[in-house]
Amino acid sequence: MERFTLAQAAEWTGGKAHGAASLSSVSTDSRQIPPETLFLPLKGERFDAHDFIAKAVDNGAAAVVSHRQNETYPVPVLYVENTAQALLDLAGGYRRLCGGKVVGVTGSVGKTTTKELLYAVLRQQFCAQKTEGNLNNEVGLPLTLLQMTRKTEVMVAEMGMNHFGELSRMTAAAQPDIAVITNIGTSHIEFLGSREGICRAKLEILEGLRPDGCAVLCGDEPLLWEKRDALGCRTVTYGIENPACDLTAYLHRDSAFDIVNNGLPAVELPQGGRFSAKLSIPGAHNILNALAAAAVGLLLGETPEHIAAGLSSYEASGMRQNIYEQNGYCIFADCYNASPDAMEAALKVLGGMAEGGRRFAVLGSMLELGGYAEEGHRRAGRAAAENADALYAYGPDAGAMVAGAKERGMAAAYAFDDQAALVAALRRDAEKGDALLFKGSRGMRMERALAWFLGED
Ligand code: ATP
Ligand code: MG
Repeated sequence: MERFTLAQAAEWTGGKAHGAASLSSVSTDSRQIPPETLFLPLKGERFDAHDFIAKAVDNGAAAVVSHRQNETYPVPVLYVENTAQALLDLAGGYRRLCGGKVVGVTGSVGKTTTKELLYAVLRQQFCAQKTEGNLNNEVGLPLTLLQMTRKTEVMVAEMGMNHFGELSRMTAAAQPDIAVITNIGTSHIEFLGSREGICRAKLEILEGLRPDGCAVLCGDEPLLWEKRDALGCRTVTYGIENPACDLTAYLHRDSAFDIVNNGLPAVELPQGGRFSAKLSIPGAHNILNALAAAAVGLLLGETPEHIAAGLSSYEASGMRQNIYEQNGYCIFADCYNASPDAMEAALKVLGGMAEGGRRFAVLGSMLELGGYAEEGHRRAGRAAAENADALYAYGPDAGAMVAGAKERGMAAAYAFDDQAALVAALRRDAEKGDALLFKGSRGMRMERALAWFLGED
């Protein structure tokens, strides 16, 4: 982090500084206080970290932020109304101080994958940084921005949301030069009302766009495509199904594809406006994510060679979108998270696997769908019937998945309420040469079922 003063922090947050301090770190954790740290306590559902200010001071905090206007502290203090908002404002001011570019990535699914692909692309030519892991909320985003330095040329920041207003606040801090919207799905529809509502909530990311900023939009999504000319900013579209997008892809059989420039302004590509690329992660949905990354790379002036090299360098890890062979089975492990849109994308990939063998969809429940749970699980079941030979559903909504599969005529669809029974059935039924997709919400721990199935536990 670059050095800043408590007075600057007061200016950025609109707070009142008592005392002076020179700072080079911000922490929200009273146990982690490196030298010259500003401790910023957040109020959670169960704890108010203001109760830990004394501990942070004991641990060496150089200054603290507080909304307890009547309390005094033994170190310089910045009094604010709301520390969560102060964290965002602080990050916004600090981001301006650093001066590099920020690319914000939002969308219902594909944010982390696109962020990782984009980082892999940008690090070829730039001093680039990215959101670590999935720290994409109103706390993770500002902490990410605070990782920038004056040397950072581009920060790739993932921005997630469940409710209206969240992206508004985040984008005010991030002030993106480029904002990517990967898609409009159905995640968090219980809070946002409809797909149109989800679309409006995602478009909040444009509110903080810098004056000469650009929106990079998935043009295969009709809601984004229709609105592209009415957004009040420069837009670039990418897509596979919609041939009118600025950047499209021509898919080859061996997971390679050509990136084709139809109308990306001021970008000239050699060889008839196209160049080849290849990914090590499966599925058309990932080619879309790659197109988003390529569009941003081209907008920032990267060469096709560097973009292709970056895209192919990204490898799936562990539980995420990872295809491999083990014990004679073809395993597609995608146990990191799940939503109806992500289920459909993964099932389509399964549909193209196991030539000669059978395809097993081993699906855990999708948590957090609220009132959309029944329909969301039925949808996943229908997609399983269309792309797999058998469905082994596990968890509280397994019955709805099986019902959806049966609606589409799938006979081999079974519901389980414990993983041991699920694994026993799979061991009985699956044979070498078969392909198995393991997917579900993080909380369903489908990676454990996979490990049992493979005899690793
Ligand atoms: P989160 O909201 O949990 O942060 P995310 O938006 O970061 O999710 P990823 O982690 O990139 O999304 O991907 C989640 C799952 O969604 C993947 O496992 C994959 O199955 C699916 N997916 C990824 N990209 C797309 C896409 N462009 N369209 C549809 N599905 C996708
Ligand atoms: Mg993510």
